[in-house]
Amino acid sequence: MKNIVLFGPPGAGKGTQSEKLIEKYNFTHLATGDLFRMHLSEGTELGKQAQKYMNEGHLVPDEVVIDMVDAKINSTENSAGFIFDGFPRTVPQAEALDRLLDKKGTPITLMLMLDVPEPELINRISERGKTSGRADDQNIEKIRTRIRVYEKETLPVAEYYNNTGKLNKIYGVGNIDEIFNRLCEAIDSTL
Ligand code: AMP
Repeated sequence: MKNIVLFGPPGAGKGTQSEKLIEKYNFTHLATGDLFRMHLSEGTELGKQAQKYMNEGHLVPDEVVIDMVDAKINSTENSAGFIFDGFPRTVPQAEALDRLLDKKGTPITLMLMLDVPEPELINRISERGKTSGRADDQNIEKIRTRIRVYEKETLPVAEYYNNTGKLNKIYGVGNIDEIFNRLCEAIDSTL
């Protein structure tokens, strides 16, 4: 069982690459943004709580995210491992994830950090906004806010994994298959 954190700024390709990784390795996809959007579309209490933060491009409070992840991990059986996409986004979330996985006896194997320059991120998100229907993809100010939030609140998570030797930077520019191959090489090089 391998547990992977797929890390990187908004627009780095985490969702696209997760889909391919799941197909190849049978991982369970745990994408907190997708889970929140599901709650939003179903009009749940959790969705209502998350909505205002998401609309502004800010982070949903840690306890809300952590409880949702806890529930998802605990309701998943017989998994080949998780691919965490868009989570953890703060150091307290990373610490909580370690505690949750400790209880299961399956730690994080590897953190893959997709490295993409900012102009490319803005282009990709703006393109995605034409078809994704996501309000937070369609406004340049909100896109910039999300990138700033990533730099300020989420980047320290990279240092957290670097301290345990789990950080692996992957160049995230190129065609989708090239980037996928880089990710697979890193995954296959772990036991
Ligand atoms: P994403 O689909 O990963 O880009 O996430 C969309 C939005 O959902 C983010 O801008 C946040 O408002 C919220 N969100 C998703 N994951 C998290 C997380 N791990 N912590 C806090 N907020 C999150």
